[in-house]
Amino acid sequence: MEPTEQSAVPGLFQTLSEPWKVAVQQAWQACRAGTLPIGSALADRSGRVVACGHNLRLADHATHPFAGSSVAHAEILTLGSVKHKAALQDFVLYSTLEPCPMCAGAIRMAGVGRVCFASRDPLAGGMDLFRSNKYMQAGRCDIQPPGSRLLEDLLIALLMERLINLAPDGVGRSIGAWSAVSPGAVVFGQWLARGGVIEDMRRRNVPVEASFAILEKLYGNESRAESVVPGAGL
Ligand SMILES: [Zn+2]
Repeated sequence: MEPTEQSAVPGLFQTLSEPWKVAVQQAWQACRAGTLPIGSALADRSGRVVACGHNLRLADHATHPFAGSSVAHAEILTLGSVKHKAALQDFVLYSTLEPCPMCAGAIRMAGVGRVCFASRDPLAGGMDLFRSNKYMQAGRCDIQPPGSRLLEDLLIALLMERLINLAPDGVGRSIGAWSAVSPGAVVFGQWLARGGVIEDMRRRNVPVEASFAILEKLYGNESRAESVVPGAGL
């Protein structure tokens, strides 16, 4: 039976803390808007979300001054929406994907005290830069790697599916990099790209909670019987 939002059993999404729910919802909103599914949220230490944003790399310029540009990353848009004079040392930035070098610099410039990311980016992740020089080290940013393998896999698979469909040039490099850290997610993302599941959910405006319940149910059922060949056929 094809899973539907009615038959899917609520699971992973409901277990997330509020900042993670907002960040993942932002990623799904980006997906529905036709750009890359990467979301971010800024919260105080009690978990109260004060700002959020999502990737607009492939969005129409009319939606935001940065939209369509190479700097339209979720973290930049989130931090850019906050008016502050003092460093954001008491705030936590949540991102569905490891921030890139550009965003690592923005996080340092804003003085964010802690960064949590839900999926690794072995190709373009920039969190190592916080050890690169005295200025970055002086930010004393507490960096928290992914805490849920399932969430990481679903986010990588979703991003992989979108890259294959929206930006196929160069996606082979991403597949090769992610295969080293999460081969199951890569296989699942390739399977999603062939099957049209994400396009169908986008068309029907399926909410984030139901979308992730469907992905969670599909993951493991369909993908693991196949083997991954990095870059093959793309
Ligand atoms: Zn970035």
